[in-house]
Amino acid sequence: MMMKDKFRLTSILTVLMMVVGVLLPFAELSAQDQTDKTYVFATDTTFAPFEFQDAEGNFVGIDMDLLDAIAKDQGFDYEMRPLGFNAAVQALESGQVDAVIAGMSITDERKQVFDFSDAYFSAGVQFAVLENSEIADLEGLSGNTVAVKTGTSGADTANSLKEEYNFDVTQFEDSVNMYEDLQVGNAQAVIEDYPVMAYAAQTGGIDLRFIGEQMAVSDFGVAVQKGQNAELITMFNDGLNNIRLSGEYDEIVSNYLGEDSGASATTGVISLIQENGTTLLSGLWTTIWISVVSIVIAMILGITLGLLRTSDNRLLEGLAQIYIDIMRGVPMIVLAFFVYFGIPQITGLQFSAVIAGIITLSLNAAAYIAEIVRGGIQAVNTGQSEASRSLGLSRSQTMRHIILPQAFKIMIPSFINQFVITMKDTSILSVIGLVELTQTGRIIIARTYQSGAMWLIVGVMYILIITLLTRLSGNIEKKYIY
Ligand code: GLN
Repeated sequence: MMMKDKFRLTSILTVLMMVVGVLLPFAELSAQDQTDKTYVFATDTTFAPFEFQDAEGNFVGIDMDLLDAIAKDQGFDYEMRPLGFNAAVQALESGQVDAVIAGMSITDERKQVFDFSDAYFSAGVQFAVLENSEIADLEGLSGNTVAVKTGTSGADTANSLKEEYNFDVTQFEDSVNMYEDLQVGNAQAVIEDYPVMAYAAQTGGIDLRFIGEQMAVSDFGVAVQKGQNAELITMFNDGLNNIRLSGEYDEIVSNYLGEDSGASATTGVISLIQENGTTLLSGLWTTIWISVVSIVIAMILGITLGLLRTSDNRLLEGLAQIYIDIMRGVPMIVLAFFVYFGIPQITGLQFSAVIAGIITLSLNAAAYIAEIVRGGIQAVNTGQSEASRSLGLSRSQTMRHIILPQAFKIMIPSFINQFVITMKDTSILSVIGLVELTQTGRIIIARTYQSGAMWLIVGVMYILIITLLTRLSGNIEKKYIY
């Protein structure tokens, strides 16, 4: 009896220590985030010429270069998170980031929630169709579908006109998907900020023809939470003033919008790989290390939960069951949004996309690992346990020396399977702006408009790495376990 109690106490303590151990580094990291003076900016993933990745994987564009020049002029440090427009605005609302710079229009509605810097650019939105489309004007949109980007002034304008001109609206998270939808013919028109489409057409990636007039012309500004980071706004405004006077502002803008700006888009699988090889490999590396770290944490948590599921203690067993039900019931994308946007808003604790990604993946995988462990233990013949107990071994000794070694062998193929699933699930984390392999692909498409070739390359990369890793673990399994 005493032995049993001790076993229970140790398992409760172990679980507690693990939870604390897993969460502590995150808490420390977030504390660091708050104390050092690096401002965290969120931006769109792809909004060329304002923000996009060049072939070397650097974030460039009018917004990026202006901010860089202003930060140098004013002497502040910053860090950039390419989240996508809607996610960037959400991140600012929930206090995940200090500011948004993303070709963001200063509107009366947004001014209720955010404080804005002075205007650094001005543009309106316009509808466009493919060059060879039959649609000639806004009346021609009748009965057709217009692709928009969620949460943007383009989307607002389309929604306010859809009844008048009788068209449908489909929403996308980023400009890339919007243009892909147009190119494959699901949508017949798009609406977005004029300079962005003009740039896309100019760089030759996509043949667009504008219809109607520019509408909802507005100023672009940097946004911060209302009443927060006022010093950042002051520095931005002062710096903007200085670089306008020095001529640097004009230089930056004409770099992207001048006569000979904009490299022509690459086509073909080979040249895409040649040009973006290093960027793709760094995306792949992020995918690999995030999945490895997550699976290690998930194994610790999952094995503990799996053991609790098979324990005699009703309370612990029940708690483990509830955990598993919750994690299996919630879609991973919802969990990712909750960890990244929800928790900070509720608790004030902040995580970077990487930490939020690791938490999401490991919490989710732990539930499945727990079930693998329970299944493995239950698959060991009950005769084994009876025999061992009748030989005088205690319950925990039976577990450790008789059941677990046999169960572990049964579990291995399922563990490998779970690792593969977790690795593929990293792609979901692109929604919180984690630049892993899938997000890298999206960002490259934003510059090249080569979705067919790019998704093929990304798909093949996943297949290669996953096949390689499963073969490798299969060999290790044969060598050391059997
Ligand atoms: N200017 C538009 C807005 O503020 C679009 C911004 C964007 O898509 N990055 O809504």
